[in-house]
Amino acid sequence: MTKRAALRNDKQFLPYAATTEKAKKTMIVAMLGEATEENIQAVIERMVELGFNVHRTTGEAQTILAGVGKPDHFDVAEFKVLPGVHDAYRISSPYKLAGRNFRPEGTKIRFKNGVVIGGDEIVVMAGPCSVESRAQILDSAKKVAAAGCQFLRGGAYKPRSSPYSFQGMGVEGLKLLREVADETGLLVITEVMEISQIETMLPYIDVFQIGARNMQNFNLLRELGHVRKPCLLKRGIAATIEEVLLSAEYILSGGNYDLMLCERGIRTYETATRNTMDISAIPVLKKLTHLPVLGDPSHGVGIREFVPPMALAAVAAGADGLLMEMHPNPDKAMSDGAQSMYPEQLEKLVKQLGQLAPVVGRSVASAVAVA
Ligand code: PEP
Ligand code: MN
Repeated sequence: MTKRAALRNDKQFLPYAATTEKAKKTMIVAMLGEATEENIQAVIERMVELGFNVHRTTGEAQTILAGVGKPDHFDVAEFKVLPGVHDAYRISSPYKLAGRNFRPEGTKIRFKNGVVIGGDEIVVMAGPCSVESRAQILDSAKKVAAAGCQFLRGGAYKPRSSPYSFQGMGVEGLKLLREVADETGLLVITEVMEISQIETMLPYIDVFQIGARNMQNFNLLRELGHVRKPCLLKRGIAATIEEVLLSAEYILSGGNYDLMLCERGIRTYETATRNTMDISAIPVLKKLTHLPVLGDPSHGVGIREFVPPMALAAVAAGADGLLMEMHPNPDKAMSDGAQSMYPEQLEKLVKQLGQLAPVVGRSVASAVAVA
């Protein structure tokens, strides 16, 4: 049996009962004023067939049909195009486990060294875009720890737009991350790009980062649902908030509840920045889901000087943490140098975060004890 299969069969790791329980769903169909009784009956029939109890309101101008029930699945788009229908709306959210109602108190993710994500303290993750060498990642880790952060980031497997760009150090990079993180007391977050990497990564990392390009790699998400290791799911380059939550649902429904989300900028018509950091997604997500929400201002704007202000904005907007790029020598970085902060910038930013956090009822997590 592979290690992953063993994890899946671990009896201590049964999904919550709610994953198997069918939840109540609600929908509304508004008929056109000129809809015939035949049209109305056809819609009612289809709703009943799906498993809804239908409540009919015959108004002066139009008929409204409200469906409440436990259908296995339904698609409002199907109703929107039925004869005589004005519009159809889904009232209950399509995600169940990710919804705030599932855990109104919020999810807290606990790590071995006492770090908690999703509590009162803001957690800071920083490091280079990629692991490039032992010297580079060791120097990075020392600077990240000295600045007061809790996590070291760094890609060992890199999703690059061009196949000719640096693709990462692979397993060698994972080993280096673990080694320097242990030396400095930091935790490790790094990106997983495909299912075959999961097992290799398990002994070396503390959080699986699911990159923007993989937010809808549903097979990968499903597999990570069976792993007992926290995951950070980044918002896709053109994903709506609902799509992020549906992707989260894939991981949660596998039984892995140690999940956090990350706003990292979306593609818009704006060209002055690499992406458009959607700060508004942070309070919206905090309302819709119990999962911790982090901000990644580095990919969010793509330009070094704008990273600190956007990091502050993310925390002001309610983020539970930050994931940021810092390189000891960003001008020589093998990837994302332009958006990687200088070590002094990170140090200054963490101090500013400490001043800002109390304004929004938070504090910054304590610095790790540097060995
Ligand atoms: C990264 O964190 O280096 C990265 C590739 O991020 P994203 O998936 O958000 O582009
Ligand atoms: Mn990067």
